[in-house]
Amino acid sequence: MRHIAIVGSGPAGYYTAEAAQKHWGEDARIDIFDRLPVPFGLIRSGVAPDHQSIKAVSKRYEKVALTDNVRFVGHVAVGEDVSIAELRGLYDAVVLATGAPGDRPMGLPGEDLADVFGSAAFVGWYNGHPHFAGLDPDLSGPSAAIVGMGNVALDVARILAKTPQELAGSDIVAHALAALERSGVRRVRVLGRRGPHQIAMTPKELGELGELARAAPLVHSADLPPAEADAALDPGLRKSVAHLRHFAALTPAERAGKPMTIEFVFFARPVALHGDEDGAVREIEIERTRLTAEGGCEGTGVTERLPADLVVSCIGYRTSPLPGVLYDQRLGRFVNQDGRIAAPAGGEGGLYCVGWARRGPTGTIGTNRPDGYALVDLIAADLAVAPAADRAGRAGFDALAAERGLDVVTFRDWKKIEQAEERAAREGAPREKFVDVAAMIRARG
Ligand code: NAP
Repeated sequence: MRHIAIVGSGPAGYYTAEAAQKHWGEDARIDIFDRLPVPFGLIRSGVAPDHQSIKAVSKRYEKVALTDNVRFVGHVAVGEDVSIAELRGLYDAVVLATGAPGDRPMGLPGEDLADVFGSAAFVGWYNGHPHFAGLDPDLSGPSAAIVGMGNVALDVARILAKTPQELAGSDIVAHALAALERSGVRRVRVLGRRGPHQIAMTPKELGELGELARAAPLVHSADLPPAEADAALDPGLRKSVAHLRHFAALTPAERAGKPMTIEFVFFARPVALHGDEDGAVREIEIERTRLTAEGGCEGTGVTERLPADLVVSCIGYRTSPLPGVLYDQRLGRFVNQDGRIAAPAGGEGGLYCVGWARRGPTGTIGTNRPDGYALVDLIAADLAVAPAADRAGRAGFDALAAERGLDVVTFRDWKKIEQAEERAAREGAPREKFVDVAAMIRARG
């Protein structure tokens, strides 16, 4: 019997479990740990609430979860309730699929002003992640600035721009919907330090900005490279740039009736944030940039201040370090070779990482599937040559959990929480999420 522990129940965790199940079948027991009482990580807390079709992938994970050899061990914080070393003693392999739940700081003066948030926090707030549900951003000012030109920046801009009616079928949580209903935001500036050919936004997501009820995208034609240059782009980016060209060509008549603007500000590198006497952000200072021959950017020395009553930086994420696991501070993820984490001096191996915890915060949800399958091949190869070890596996963990009085949440418990969330949904919405752990535990009954 192979005993596998997976830490983190997001896409990387479940794809790894699926791969392990396919590889070993009945000869493996797989425990998926999560610090929250609810599974699916990024699917629940990261994917935009108005992208329900993307969230539907959790049904595939549920199929994996409902088999006898896989189990969900919720409400157990690895690194706090149980250590990595303890898990290593109990399981043949321990896989860290902990994602990248923290924000990369911008490193700017003024970053600690009120109403400056990283996207993990801001997205976590509107998605009801218990760690961020209390964020309470002030949306009363007219100007918002979003730093970064990736898909997360698009998610944040779109959510700020959508009307309550457009969000009706989403699972945005009640506190965020109420705050957005009262929002005074009228101009959302999306800031990129490079140009239109260097965006990290994908076409479908960018196209959605052109279909909003009360907001129109604005691209300044002068920022666009000559149209002939688009031919050299790869097809996806070419389609994204075509959307930018379309936005630049929108006529006043096409903008009419749209009181909100989502403005693309290219060649703008943030250098500082400035606040008012109450310590709330009011402006973002940028330095104008130009592209370098290598495709990077350099400052021109020309600075400018743009109004910003809310700043959300969407510049990437970091994996949370775990005690005793080698961590690369610069890259913000575990030190690893193809998913294998080096054993501590004198210690044994058997520790792995997968998904964003392995490669950093890039790629789509589907990218984690081949990642999980490749990792299971690697683990299988390692186990084939490892000395036989009679690990206690889940029975050993259960004994430890009982000894420590851990209140473990099972997948069956989660299904009760899910049903309670579905019953509480406002009309037209799929669910109303619980946003604090105590409420989740109560709903389990
Ligand atoms: P991303 O795609 O890596 O984009 C990050 C953006 O931040 C880039 O425009 C980058 O500019 C900019 N940036 C980085 N450091 C900066 C700095 N110090 N100052 C100013 N700008 C800075 O990251 P993401 O948007 O967080 O997305 C993470 C992953 O999730 C991506 O693979 C994304 O496609 C995926 N995702 C997908 C969806 C979807 O499919 N619907 C939704 C959300 C996220 P440079 O290029 O100049 O570095």
